[in-house]
Amino acid sequence: MTTPKFLLFAIAFTFSVSSFAENPVAIAIHGGAGTLSKADMTPQKQRQYEATLKTAVETGYALLKSGASGERAIIETLKIMEVSSLFNAGVGAVYNFDEEHELDASIMLGHSRQAGAVAGVKRIKSPIEAAATVMSRSEHVMLSGQGAEHFAEQMGLEMVDNNFFDTMHRKEALQRAKQRMSLNTYNFTRTDSEKMGTVGAVVLDSTGNIAAGTSTGGMTAKRFGRVGDSPVIGAGTFADNESCAVSATGHGEYFIRYNVAADICARVKYQKLSLEKAADTVINQVLANAGGSGGIIAIDAKGNIAMPFNTTGMYRASVDVEGNVYIAIFK
Ligand code: ASP
Repeated sequence: MTTPKFLLFAIAFTFSVSSFAENPVAIAIHGGAGTLSKADMTPQKQRQYEATLKTAVETGYALLKSGASGERAIIETLKIMEVSSLFNAGVGAVYNFDEEHELDASIMLGHSRQAGAVAGVKRIKSPIEAAATVMSRSEHVMLSGQGAEHFAEQMGLEMVDNNFFDTMHRKEALQRAKQRMSLNTYNFTRTDSEKMGTVGAVVLDSTGNIAAGTSTGGMTAKRFGRVGDSPVIGAGTFADNESCAVSATGHGEYFIRYNVAADICARVKYQKLSLEKAADTVINQVLANAGGSGGIIAIDAKGNIAMPFNTTGMYRASVDVEGNVYIAIFK
């Protein structure tokens, strides 16, 4: 007796749905790297950071588990961090020299090498969403300043006044920085707390694709339309299914000059290094030897995760392919 055709279809369909749901997913996030001392961190503050990292990483993981795309998981995860005043992205972004916030963000997809970025935007509520909109709804990769805002407005994204991003602790950091720099100083040394708090996410979604995204306010007292590495594809964000997806945080000028995110993926791709080894070499040797401080989070298509940093701490969290949750701040 032959099996009726509709039954064969039902069996095949059931099989594909269940195998899809079982595909491994994983996520790693960061909330900035820098000089973090346990002495400066009150238990209450530490709990706040850990709770927000946990909410963000678990939100992203749950989305991935339910079959959401890497792009969607990155946007929703980073939006949680952008609205938190703990991080230097969205609300809580550092101030530039003129006491305003200029935000940068980018996103990249590993299967198509599609990417989107915004730089120096002042009125877009969610820069990571704007970066994704540039990627999906424009013919360009990076839009800056008022042009980017005009585009975001036309696309119906939520716009806010610049003071929406204000926080007292970042204002005080600007005042302290300004006391140390004179008007004619084009080059002054920032403390880590004056540049740290950038947020980023890297994910493996249930279709086997990897992706990366980064959002930041940049560096305290930045001037002249300074743009850091975060919106620069290859420097602060990179994704390629054949190697890895990376989001960076740290002294942006070094990350641009050393093309950090793309360099890690190139080592995986061409030198056949493990993700762990490639990421560690670039952060703890190449970048550290050059004097660049910071760290990265990275993931590959198997769901391996690496999170090296050459500073005393990096706010970070992950959920691996087995569902293990990891949250850490210090080394
Ligand atoms: N990389 C960011 C920038 O240079 C800052 C940071 O990650 O702390 O704009």
